[in-house]
Amino acid sequence: MQKDFLRKLGLKAKNPGTWTGQEHLSGSARSLQSHSPVDGELIGSVTITTREQYEQVILRAQEAFLVWRQMPAPKRGEIVRQYGEVLREYKDPLGRLVSYEMGKSLQEGWGEVQEMIDICDFAVGLSRQLYGLSMHSERPGHRMYEQWHPLGIVGIISAFNFPVAVWSWNSMLALVCGDVCVWKASEKTPLCAIACQNLFQKVLKANNLPEGISSVVNGDYKVGEYLTKDARVPLVSATGSTRMGKIVGRTVAERLGRSLLELGGNNAIIITPSADLKIVLTGAVFGAVGTAGQRCTSTRRLIIHESQYEEVKKVLASAYKQLRIGDPLDPNIHVGPLIDTAAVENYQHAISEVKKSGGKFVVEGGVLSGPGYESGCYVKPCIAEAKNDWAIVQHETFAPILYLLKYKDIEEAIAIQNGVPQGLSSAIMTNNLREAERFLSVAGSDCGIANVNIGTSGAEIGGAFGGEKETGGGRESGSDSWKAYMRRQTNTINYSETIPLAQGIKFDL
Ligand code: NAD
Repeated sequence: MQKDFLRKLGLKAKNPGTWTGQEHLSGSARSLQSHSPVDGELIGSVTITTREQYEQVILRAQEAFLVWRQMPAPKRGEIVRQYGEVLREYKDPLGRLVSYEMGKSLQEGWGEVQEMIDICDFAVGLSRQLYGLSMHSERPGHRMYEQWHPLGIVGIISAFNFPVAVWSWNSMLALVCGDVCVWKASEKTPLCAIACQNLFQKVLKANNLPEGISSVVNGDYKVGEYLTKDARVPLVSATGSTRMGKIVGRTVAERLGRSLLELGGNNAIIITPSADLKIVLTGAVFGAVGTAGQRCTSTRRLIIHESQYEEVKKVLASAYKQLRIGDPLDPNIHVGPLIDTAAVENYQHAISEVKKSGGKFVVEGGVLSGPGYESGCYVKPCIAEAKNDWAIVQHETFAPILYLLKYKDIEEAIAIQNGVPQGLSSAIMTNNLREAERFLSVAGSDCGIANVNIGTSGAEIGGAFGGEKETGGGRESGSDSWKAYMRRQTNTINYSETIPLAQGIKFDL
């Protein structure tokens, strides 16, 4: 395979412990090897951050914060703007690295970098809009307002499936807010993090700004724990499984820190009698098999009206026959590999659980082998008829397995949609205004994202992104998500010549 993109990103080395992410750190004894799920080849090695190195990173970040917080927000926005420009320049090689290290299609790899560029643009505008409110004081000659200050060090823990975009959603906002960032990327995609870090350092260097404004630490959950247990890190934004979120949430809460949690989903599309089947087909198939079912917003359940059930089943089965599975860097391929062989085992386990529960497969699954599939990470997307209350259906399996569920009336459909522990993304396919509004009403979908005539998968950066229940309640990216990265201060100024007390209290001396 042609891997010129690694050279373009300055990542052409395989020696253990080659990359640390920080110029001031030298390699440690232990390293993390990154193998591509595409062909199983070793891409490169990254140094695992030791406790001592972590201390150095935090000290540098603390020093950098003192400089960065004094810079006017629009000037910080200018640095983020320059990073957006660098990303435009490196969109092709970075997108290819995302595709090769994570296994998503090249279109999606480029799409992820485009999302980074978009969030940079969003953050630049935001840097002039970090508004506080002003309130009328109850006391004469007083002015009251609120302002927003940065928190300090923001710890970012990210998942493998969006190896670059999720970091940028957090960091670009946190940076214009005046915070500095320390990123613990997924141990499954460490080179993507090193590439983003190197590109960001280019911008810091060109502007003579301290390296500690943005840092990476490498390793598995143990390195993540350095951040979650560290009281010098006031906010930990963690993206990953619900299992991880429960541990991170508890650990950060124990020290009364703040956490922003973006966890697993179990997303469904309701298909009503009036649904446009062309829209259903694209929305459902892309939602279920895109990124090989490894998006937090992947469609896992289709809740189909009984009158449409057989028709939808038939159309889906024939669409699945046309899916091409293989090298995600080939533009003709629809479905790439799962991240690793452990993910393949989870997929196989889920299939056997469905069978044990009595589920029938409309499209059979299976692991692919032979030429082109040597990494052992390629699986067939499959479709099973199931029941919502089965334990396996209630659980998020991070693989292309789609469950078909049947409903009689809209109330039942909404109850099924909401009847899982997760609450990330949801959708209804309908041309019936009453049904659409019913789905969006207070008694409708309980998810953070609810769409009409769009699938569950993917979201625009302009909206606040996140979900309820076991998805963790966090919101990132657009709207007013920036408030999570700042502390609010209420200020009251007395410009009168007396000091009246609030609530009319008298205290005469
Ligand atoms: P994961 O939970 O295995 O790991 C995520 C990150 O958390 C990794 O960096 C890992 O090292 C770290 N981590 C794990 N345990 C930790 C601990 N105890 N303390 C500190 N850090 C810890 O998840 P994954 O397999 O990389 O990603 C898939 C999951 O992420 C899916 O559940 C998916 O739905 C979820 N996800 C959610 C969103 C969202 O926005 N809601 C976005 C992307 C992915």
